[in-house]
Amino acid sequence: MLIVDSELCIGCGVCEESCAFGAIEVIDGCAVVGDACTLCGACVENCEVEALQIEGAEKSVQADLDSWRGVWVYCEFRAGTLAPVSLELLGAGRKLADARGVHLSAVLIGAGTGDTAQRLIGHGADIVYQVDDPALAYFTDEAYGAVLIDLIKKHKPEIVLAGATAIGRSFIPGVANSLGAGLTADCTHLDIRLDDGALLQTRPAFGGNIMATIVCLSSRPQMSTVRPKVMQAMEFDAARQGKIVNVTPDPVLLQTKVRVLESVVFEQDDVNIQESDILVAGGRGMDNAKGFELIRELADSIDAAVAASRAVVDAGWIGYPHQVGQTGKTVAPKLYIACGISGAIQHVAGMQSSETIVAINRDENAPIFDVADFGIVGDMYKIIPMLISKIEGHRKS
Ligand SMILES: Cc1cc2nc3c(=O)[nH]c(=O)nc-3n(C[C@H](O)[C@H](O)[C@H](O)COP(=O)(O)OP(=O)(O)OC[C@H]3O[C@@H](n4cnc5c(N)ncnc54)[C@H](O)[C@@H]3O)c2cc1C
Repeated sequence: MLIVDSELCIGCGVCEESCAFGAIEVIDGCAVVGDACTLCGACVENCEVEALQIEGAEKSVQADLDSWRGVWVYCEFRAGTLAPVSLELLGAGRKLADARGVHLSAVLIGAGTGDTAQRLIGHGADIVYQVDDPALAYFTDEAYGAVLIDLIKKHKPEIVLAGATAIGRSFIPGVANSLGAGLTADCTHLDIRLDDGALLQTRPAFGGNIMATIVCLSSRPQMSTVRPKVMQAMEFDAARQGKIVNVTPDPVLLQTKVRVLESVVFEQDDVNIQESDILVAGGRGMDNAKGFELIRELADSIDAAVAASRAVVDAGWIGYPHQVGQTGKTVAPKLYIACGISGAIQHVAGMQSSETIVAINRDENAPIFDVADFGIVGDMYKIIPMLISKIEGHRKS
């Protein structure tokens, strides 16, 4: 609850201006809080006379911030495979650790991890905490969470990064909650403020219309999740040296109420648009499911995978694994061809890192042209068949 100290409040109105939700108003010289308050704390930070306070927030202040040191990356390992986002996060974590002058550590939890720890060192880790136990063969929130919480409590890293994958999204919020830490989900940029070591966590907010930079000033660790394909992995360097710490987990930590009977690959997951070098993406401009077939034809002609805007997925023309954007996947192929996609900010958020973007749209003012390297203005039903025939002609010759 946000409390106003009427003795201290001078009715200056700064809190009113700093509230993005219109939840605070100065009435008769004193701030009054309305129902729309989300306890974001913006007014508290801006109040120069310290007349505002969030009840309970003071309990989370940790006095010993300096005793937390080091940058950690939770490296996701499942069914014998390391999630590529782990290497991307090590790339980002390396820069943060160098800026802070601290070690970069990887946490590897699973069973049968083989030489994965060595691979993590080659990609930037100084230390790998390896927890390899048959009881961790299948992911469960409880066991993985308990193991990670235990390690964090023992070693006190100042920063913990994890992938915003199905697994990361499932258990990292619980880990943060148990530690009394904040968690910034789906960050698109991470940086360090050198004077106080604050992690600057940037992510889209308000439906993607603004980019917000979030800091956790009074608690540690600072925790963020980052989606796959947003950060860049370091090149593997076989000569890099590091330390592997084998951790035997306390059996109590491995107890879980969940019993995994079987793990199967969801068929649609076979389509991994994040791993394709060329994507042909279709939008509502294709009119209907039949029109969308043209997208598949164009994709087939250049050995590309098919991607889509949310409008198309919502219409049921193609499955969710193909969706690109804020609520879909983030992709960074060598070539992204956007066909009949307007370029809404939520779509662009998922494809703007593509190396080359080609946009086809009949509206010359469509926002997709703002991010495109090459633009074709015209009717899709004329342009795509022309493109396919050119490509086929080129192949034959
Ligand atoms: C919280 C939130 C999250 C969201 N997440 C996502 C997300 O992850 N991904 C996503 O894509 N969207 C997302 N959206 C939806 C997004 O705002 C847009 O509504 C959506 O991207 C629009 O899809 P579109 O470009 O296919 O359709 P439209 O915006 O309808 O655009 C169709 C385009 O096709 C062009 N066109 C039409 N006919 C032709 C033709 N014959 N030839 C050539 N061009 C033609 C039109 O000029 C137009 O530019 C999200 C929205 C919200 C609020």
